[in-house]
Amino acid sequence: MAVSEADLKENYRRLPDAKLLRIASESAAKLRPEALVLLKEELRTRGLAETAEKAIEVQFRAVTEAGIADYCALLQALPCPVCRSTAQPLNATCTSKVMSFLVVTMWKKQLAIACPTCLDKLNRDARTTSALLGWWGFPWGVLRTVQALVANGKMLKNNHSPYPNDLLKAFVAGNAGRIEAVRHHPADLQALLKATPLS
Ligand SMILES: [Zn+2]
Repeated sequence: MAVSEADLKENYRRLPDAKLLRIASESAAKLRPEALVLLKEELRTRGLAETAEKAIEVQFRAVTEAGIADYCALLQALPCPVCRSTAQPLNATCTSKVMSFLVVTMWKKQLAIACPTCLDKLNRDARTTSALLGWWGFPWGVLRTVQALVANGKMLKNNHSPYPNDLLKAFVAGNAGRIEAVRHHPADLQALLKATPLS
């Protein structure tokens, strides 16, 4: 059953500012049109419309190549979330970790954003974990472990691109609303870099 407009309005009215801004910056494009109107109304009432406007807008237009480059540059200039260094531009990697126990094999892929040195370490750690713990499941343990070792090895090269790599660009394209909402707040921008599971 669809939620009535009155219920929706009341629901938004009860939410704290932070939660309301989060919906605006992350989920605006997924809302029903009438829900979006109510959300914008509530933001206006609280004097938050200006803060949220751009973050909402950016979710409705395809982010252009220039927009992606702009956001990537913004993220690349931040201190590394792992070692805090600003010596090298940040980039993204995907770590593949395989762990097996008898017939159960778990394969965890995770996106990480950090400086190239820390990204290398994350891939090497994932490779070591997989090499030690991945093999023991049958039959998937062996196969997945080989795949994880290869995947982590390939990433090592990717980590040292001076330009934003495809993983960073994909992260930016998928999180444009969130980035726009906090682009002038370095601490919040930094919080966005926290690892995001890929699968
Ligand atoms: Zn680092």
